[in-house]
Amino acid sequence: MMMYKTHKFDHKVDEDVIFASRDSEFILPKYKIPKEQSDSKAILEIVKDELFLDGNARQNLATFTQTYEDEYIKEIMEIGMNKNMIDKDEYPQTAEIENRIVSMLADLWNSPNELTSIGTSTVGSSEACMLGGLAMYHRWRMKRIAEDKDISKPNLVTGPVQVVWEKFARYWGIELREIPMEEGRYYMDPDSMLEYIDENTIGVVTTLGLTFTGEYEPIEKLSHALDKLEEKTGLDIDMHIDAASGGFLAPFCAPKIKWDFRLPRVKSISASGHKFGLAPLGCGFVVWRDVNDLPDDLIFHVNYLGGDMSVFQLNFSRPAGPIIAQYYQLLRLGFDGYKKVHMNCYKTAQYLAKEIEKLGIFEIIFDGNPNKGIPAVTWRLKEDAEVSFNLYDFADKLRSRGWLVPAYSLPKYADNVVVQRILVRQGFGLDMASLLMQDIKRTLKYFETHRVVSHLNEEDVASLNHTGR
Ligand SMILES: *Cc1c(COP(=O)(O)O)cnc(C)c1O
Repeated sequence: MMMYKTHKFDHKVDEDVIFASRDSEFILPKYKIPKEQSDSKAILEIVKDELFLDGNARQNLATFTQTYEDEYIKEIMEIGMNKNMIDKDEYPQTAEIENRIVSMLADLWNSPNELTSIGTSTVGSSEACMLGGLAMYHRWRMKRIAEDKDISKPNLVTGPVQVVWEKFARYWGIELREIPMEEGRYYMDPDSMLEYIDENTIGVVTTLGLTFTGEYEPIEKLSHALDKLEEKTGLDIDMHIDAASGGFLAPFCAPKIKWDFRLPRVKSISASGHKFGLAPLGCGFVVWRDVNDLPDDLIFHVNYLGGDMSVFQLNFSRPAGPIIAQYYQLLRLGFDGYKKVHMNCYKTAQYLAKEIEKLGIFEIIFDGNPNKGIPAVTWRLKEDAEVSFNLYDFADKLRSRGWLVPAYSLPKYADNVVVQRILVRQGFGLDMASLLMQDIKRTLKYFETHRVVSHLNEEDVASLNHTGR
């Protein structure tokens, strides 16, 4: 949650109040609960009017999360609105649906034994990553305690991760060893990974669909490097795969890539249902290879149909709607449907990559190849591009036509590299992409005749930034 500072509660000046236009007598305070009741319809209008100030979600090419829902999903969300996901006893069929999805995902991610894999739904990938990370941490602690070894200095080795792993490390007192990117290498490679690992390493987290570029990390290679390390030193290092985006993409569109439970070192996988799982917001999952990979001391017990059900979660109450909608999508689309929807997104991303490259001044960093990453395009300005604008200026200007195309610098050691990224999701097809290209060309023309004399920087367009930093 964003943390908000509170505002002055006493409002005497006009600016501090909101008005309903049809009745100027009707005055509402902005930062204080109004004293009196109001007409629901009038308030609804006010709230809706205020929301017009938000950007248009369908033109938001920054976010990874779903912005398109069909009518049936809306119907399901309504049914699920007042069902609390935690009340397994009161809503046993909802619990059964969650259980079925976990099995479907264990199967999709090539669990060696569906009967002994275990998992849960979550509010999103962040919660799922926290749970995967915590289980990893506790496995390491248990092993160290059994060997009578020090447990005071745990560290976690990762590539360029999403902010949730920084949170995980800070909240639980674990040293984050995030391998720095360098110009031209924007992921974790086996050699640099090995340099950071020691006996205090609780595990390695790699990402299937990096936030910064959209690329998949070379998970199979990393896993083999860890096998070699074990042969040489006896250090047995577990992997958690943050497959927030890729977990619902690679199985359908790049089934040959080995990133999942086919690699024995992979003990847990997390993914966002509300990204490429095509569920509405509020839906994620984490699955462990085997019930033994989830330490018992992390599990709590709730009543379930008069029986006992184990739960592992950070949240307690949570709406069931997004999970039921996920179930609907899995049943409705099936394997072929997911493949079709996602392949269309890849096609659009690749079209954009080609068109952007043709402009001559941009270098494509990731081109939306389904065997290499998610349906996204990432580019930078060529070093020798003779232009008067930078990518922050460019992003800002595109926003005047409603397009949110974030520009940002890469993390440390590559932070002199500024990139721009488009994420293609369901609902953003070739026709919209060609409209975007027209606006991109129009913007370049504009900059030809209007030279930029004072550049914007990262802070100026911070609201456009969606890198999870
Ligand atoms: C989006 C994302 C997250 C966080 O997921 P939420 O579902 O937004 O909580 C974590 N890791 C990666 C790689 C992501 O892309």
